[in-house]
Amino acid sequence: MAEAYQTIEVRHPRFPLATFPTPLERAQHLEAALAPGTPGGMPRIYLKRDDLLSLGMGGNKVRNLEFAIGQALAESATEVVTSGRQQSNHCRLTAAACARAGLGVHVVLSGREPASFTGNLLLGRLLGATIHFVGSDDRAARQQMVSDVAREIAQAHGRPYVIPVGGSDARGALGHALAAEELLRQCDALGERLGALVLATATGGTQAGMLAGLRRLGSDAPIYGFAVAKSAPELAFDVLRMANEVSRAIGGRPLQAPDVIVDGSCLGEGYGAPTLEGQRAIEVLARSEGVFADPVYTGKALAGLFAFVREGRLRPGDCVVFLHTGGTPALFA
Ligand SMILES: *Cc1c(COP(=O)(O)O)cnc(C)c1O
Repeated sequence: MAEAYQTIEVRHPRFPLATFPTPLERAQHLEAALAPGTPGGMPRIYLKRDDLLSLGMGGNKVRNLEFAIGQALAESATEVVTSGRQQSNHCRLTAAACARAGLGVHVVLSGREPASFTGNLLLGRLLGATIHFVGSDDRAARQQMVSDVAREIAQAHGRPYVIPVGGSDARGALGHALAAEELLRQCDALGERLGALVLATATGGTQAGMLAGLRRLGSDAPIYGFAVAKSAPELAFDVLRMANEVSRAIGGRPLQAPDVIVDGSCLGEGYGAPTLEGQRAIEVLARSEGVFADPVYTGKALAGLFAFVREGRLRPGDCVVFLHTGGTPALFA
């Protein structure tokens, strides 16, 4: 009954970077692995495989980048400048997107240049990005270097376009509002009604876009965002602000604080610091489904999913979707 859904209309420029939809797969073997610890009964668990987005080894940032690159091209940019930490998935995928769009790309990374390039850093170099190292982990210094690089491009008669950290702003989050529609249609086709969506949240753009998209299309399914980069209250604030911007852009209603659920219980020592629960969750998923999660984002969110299942917070018989946002190249770092 896909026709029951209105289509989300987005007027912003968009540059195609991948083939949609990404697979939505039932994770029956994962359910079986979790069942013994869950006497109350299991929800039906599905994996939404945005890790398989067909650009540059995939991940959720591809959806943001369709709109960021679309805007860069609309402004006749010649070179894109973006920034992040050394193993940034966003920087790797920006480099891949620019390769496809025929744009030059400068990536400004925290820290010092390492002796050997691994994981996302290796892929960024393969993709032809010009990589700048800030030399420290200072955010202000990184931001300053982004401005300097953009100014040098302009002085050399190029046109720079700066993409914010994580590609995350309301423009990028539009891609996730479209993903919400994609997901609801897939659930419909399977005869499922989305009961809950579980994801890792870092800048909050993915959660914001998904929330605005689901509500715009009449779904009241809760989204459980597991904080992996900052405290839950800070993130909830960012998610609500961006979700309202996206909602306005797609003709939705204003969203309220109770729409935004951010859980801080899986953050551990902070961004990028692995947790024991996250590592175990990565093993459980790999050994039940042959699917890889990553230690920075999806592993922690999976640990949150498993805890919610055990505690009976996800109802038996419900359709629960785990958004696999990618990040697997970090396994090789
Ligand atoms: C960036 C990222 C996220 C979080 O997305 P936000 O929109 O920044 O909240 C989750 N998983 C992976 C693998 C990512 O790279």
